[in-house]
Amino acid sequence: MANPVKIKATVKQVVKHSDAVVSYHLVPQGRVPKFHAGQFLHLALDAYAPDTQWPESRVFSIASSPTVRSHELAVTLAVKGRFTARIFQTLEPGSECWLKLPYGEFLFPPDRHLTLIAGGVGITPYLSLLQQMLEEKSGQAVTLFYGVRSARHYLFEDLLSRCMTALPNFSMTLYCEDGSLPAKKGILDIDAIHAAAPDASLFYLSGPPGMIHAFKHRLSNLGVDLPRIRVDDWE
Ligand SMILES: Cc1cc2nc3c(=O)[nH]c(=O)nc-3n(C[C@H](O)[C@H](O)[C@H](O)COP(=O)(O)OP(=O)(O)OC[C@H]3O[C@@H](n4cnc5c(N)ncnc54)[C@H](O)[C@@H]3O)c2cc1C
Repeated sequence: MANPVKIKATVKQVVKHSDAVVSYHLVPQGRVPKFHAGQFLHLALDAYAPDTQWPESRVFSIASSPTVRSHELAVTLAVKGRFTARIFQTLEPGSECWLKLPYGEFLFPPDRHLTLIAGGVGITPYLSLLQQMLEEKSGQAVTLFYGVRSARHYLFEDLLSRCMTALPNFSMTLYCEDGSLPAKKGILDIDAIHAAAPDASLFYLSGPPGMIHAFKHRLSNLGVDLPRIRVDDWE
């Protein structure tokens, strides 16, 4: 795994998905180390100078493909508390911020069936994998189960449609709580997800802490060994 490096970046584009969810496309001003899909970075707003303390930061999944790292890094965040509100108010095209990367062990082996489970903004750690799979025309077997509250919360529809069209072994089941999308009505159903998965599939959990804990517990009760359950814990 590459050693984390600190680099300045310039905001190229800001995409507001809703009042509270926004993507930032950043152009790195230095060499970006190799990273893997599923890893995360630290984002700081205050200037960093070498040999000084790293400023306050928060961590976000890298939402862009590792293959474009020399000219683009993206993050998608939900405005939740003080720091994400500050990011939302501060960063606009042309703004600068500081990044520290790569971190994390939420990795996707290329030779296994992957069952990806995303609740809401928990879709973000899968975005770099899906973009990389599109670029490589990957034949890896990947099944995504994505739960959203309503049509307004359905993120990255275009990317997900492209995956369904272009990737031969990718499929997605969408769950929508209020029925405002052509999808399964209601919340993610871990028993149905488990029943649909091949025997050796790896289960990835990303979403609200309550969902992660409940699903991990249930998968374990259904006989899935802990090494086959991978969690992106945002707590
Ligand atoms: C591996 C990982 C990946 C994540 N990926 C994403 C993502 O892709 N998108 C997304 O929206 N969120 C992601 N998160 C959550 C994100 O890092 C923030 O924790 C979350 O957005 C909380 O909002 P906030 O920082 O605005 O809240 P705040 O109210 O500013 O902070 C919430 C709490 O974090 C604590 N805290 C953590 N670090 C510090 C610090 N340096 N200084 C002070 N307090 C601190 C404090 O206890 C504080 O009360 C991820 C978290 C993890 C661990």
